Amino acid sequence: MTAVATACPPAVRQGGGPVPVVSEGPALLAGIAQGPGLAAHLNRLGPAPRPSLGALVDMARDVDLRGRGGAGFPFATKLSAAARRRAVVVVNASEGEPGSHKDAALISCAPHVVLDGAAAVARALRTQEVHIVVSSEHPSLRRVVEKALRERVTAGECLDLRLHDAAPRFVAGQAQAVLQLLAGRENLPVTAWQPEAVSGHRGRPTLLSNAETFAQIGHLVRVGSAGYAAHGTAGEPGTTLVTLRGDGWAPEVREVAHGTPLADLLDEAETSRPLLLGGYHGTWLRPAQLRGMTVSRSAIAAAGATLGAGVMLPLAQGRCPLVRTAELVEYLAGQSARRCGPCLNGLPAMAEAVRALVHGEGSVRRVEELCGLVVRRGACAHPDGTARLVASMMQRFPAEVQAHSVGTCRRGREVSG
Ligand code: SF4
Repeated sequence: MTAVATACPPAVRQGGGPVPVVSEGPALLAGIAQGPGLAAHLNRLGPAPRPSLGALVDMARDVDLRGRGGAGFPFATKLSAAARRRAVVVVNASEGEPGSHKDAALISCAPHVVLDGAAAVARALRTQEVHIVVSSEHPSLRRVVEKALRERVTAGECLDLRLHDAAPRFVAGQAQAVLQLLAGRENLPVTAWQPEAVSGHRGRPTLLSNAETFAQIGHLVRVGSAGYAAHGTAGEPGTTLVTLRGDGWAPEVREVAHGTPLADLLDEAETSRPLLLGGYHGTWLRPAQLRGMTVSRSAIAAAGATLGAGVMLPLAQGRCPLVRTAELVEYLAGQSARRCGPCLNGLPAMAEAVRALVHGEGSVRRVEELCGLVVRRGACAHPDGTARLVASMMQRFPAEVQAHSVGTCRRGREVSG
């Protein structure tokens, strides 16, 4: 793998943090050292085919392509559901999760791989309307996308391409929040009565997926099912993007084949510490669970977790998982839209209850009770994701919780940020 941070500077969020290194990858991130321009892209790969709906559904089904925004929904099913009159395509690159940089890296280093996928999906759905959503935290990313869209229009692209800026907020990238943004309303989640593939943007069938999913389609239509399966395992063909240490030291975006050992991505010191897998709505894993684990849905599911959007956050040296969880819950409670009861009342109460555990006060039972109370009660999955994070900490680190209750945790009680 080659670090190409200088050839392809990844988009940097306003407000700083270390710049993630983006490495050249085997498929979606191949050739990024040549820059993000259309000419280099076409020189390298030639024009992307635009298959019929049936052919695209078959290919996506053959390789069991799943959405890469976190939920892992089968793409072929979503595409079939959206295949009706007046469909709309939405490329969601807003990425509100602070631990994730993969969509920003992808769309700044290989925007035309993403746009090839969007164009193929638009052709299959017989629509010309394609919306692209980026985070307003990334002004440099917007400039890259604007340039890429201009290049395509100049080259004869006949799609109606529209660019939108999502709010810099954790829940702004949630599907319903994105639809609100497109409709000119506040970029926050609302209750959905039907999937967006059935009734999305202004009630029209809407194929909304994250940027990596469209890039996977862009790659798939070029190489076909067999070429796609050149990477990965028999059960899980292809590659996936991961962000390592995305909210901490030395952040990095890598494209890896399914089946890659975790030990190839994280060093020995990192795999000997707790890992938060799947981001702030993810699951804590103990070091013993990481031994022999690979980047695969089935291996990760066997450990009671999901890869989510590919975020891997090893606990920093010397830190306590309970204290870190308290910080994250505090952050998540502050990020809600404060519209539904579980967010308005439940998450602040949960933050307070977890903070009490840090100080050796409160009770495990109270935290468990709050986790149970907020689940499946919000308009979006924000309370569920926060409860999952807390429940995994309680389940995986009872000794640390006990150490705080008797004042013997040597890794501190200070909750920062
Ligand atoms: S659950 Fe929370 S974040 Fe989701 S819509 Fe309700 S208030 Fe907003």
